[in-house]
Amino acid sequence: MKIYADHAATTPCDKRVLEEMLPYFSDEFGNANSQHAFGRDAAKAVNDARETVADIIGCKPNEVYFTGGGTEADNWALKGVALHKRDRGNHVIISAIEHHAILTSAEWLEQNGFRVTKLPVDSTGMVRVEELERAIDDETTIVSVMYANNEVGTIQPIKELAEIAHKHGALFHTDAVQAIPYMNIDVKELGVDLLTISGHKFYGPKGVGVLYIRNGVKLDKLICGGGQERSQRGGTVNVPAVVGLARALELSRVDLEKNNAYIASLRDRFEQRVEKEIPYIRQNGNKLHRVPSIANYSFEFVEGEGILMLLDFNGIAVSSGSACSSGSLDPSHVLLAMGVPIEVSHGSIRFSFGKHNTMEEVDYIADKLKETIEKLREMSPLFDLKKGGTYNV
Ligand code: PLP
Repeated sequence: MKIYADHAATTPCDKRVLEEMLPYFSDEFGNANSQHAFGRDAAKAVNDARETVADIIGCKPNEVYFTGGGTEADNWALKGVALHKRDRGNHVIISAIEHHAILTSAEWLEQNGFRVTKLPVDSTGMVRVEELERAIDDETTIVSVMYANNEVGTIQPIKELAEIAHKHGALFHTDAVQAIPYMNIDVKELGVDLLTISGHKFYGPKGVGVLYIRNGVKLDKLICGGGQERSQRGGTVNVPAVVGLARALELSRVDLEKNNAYIASLRDRFEQRVEKEIPYIRQNGNKLHRVPSIANYSFEFVEGEGILMLLDFNGIAVSSGSACSSGSLDPSHVLLAMGVPIEVSHGSIRFSFGKHNTMEEVDYIADKLKETIEKLREMSPLFDLKKGGTYNV
């Protein structure tokens, strides 16, 4: 048995998406910037893809820039605006729970003379609007707060936050990588100036993303090269990937509500079982404002890596922290920012369900999880102490 419950890390590419992409590898292989018929065919495919994305997120096609993924789009947005507006001010605001693409871009800016403020979050992972009011000043050029968090799924009050940024003359960027698979987004209604999307979180290809840049917003280039993407992002456009991203986004809008309800029912069943059957747990996230796919729990007295390995041994794929930081044993910066004690944060696991999971799979995961936690606690000196044991630490 092999069960995938790590959809916040990535999703399988939909076969219909793959089919749409295939011709652009070998039959219609033209470079979208070439001046001949091969190039024109490729350029048409890219332009169609741009129009599809623009239609779905409510902007003009010339506000859609294709990138090599969400990480690049995040880097470009934050560094690009900060560098471009350096003469106006050197202050950048992000939230404490951003993805590493924003977090490390902010660190890079800090190393290069910028001032960075990280907005704190409450115990459910929510940024408080008043905190932005408090932090923003005349030198703030950009505020970047993610739409939905990749570890706990909490959805942020983006519209209100963007309004505050604008009131103080700053631009607003949101990393919508984890939100767009589940939410209809209209960038104009949301009031954001820049927005990041990544193809592989909604059953599209990896290595392709979008940065929406509102017309009129100026930012420095991140990737210098040829005249691609209206001279703002150098590099031959990855035509198959761009076509795939657009098709996947289009498909993700079909039955969005139905799929969300189904995924939420899987998560709810899982949460009911965990909460009923496993003691000493802490649920991480916000019960009201969250994407339907993610359940994040800390299991006291055990290590996340141990849980992960035993579940993997049983064919179950989940994640401890975010996929990008797994491999490191550092505690999750998201959970720490939410006030989860460091020793508790070490025993945290993210389960993220998708539209292909079944109730039987959810039950299997819950069964194996219960067994795993019991087994690990039997070996845990801390749990022994908790039970009144005499283990000498
Ligand atoms: N932002 C968030 C919130 C993410 O979850 C991810 C992927 O894990 C990224 C950015 C990075 O996107 P990509 O994998 O396309 O570089």
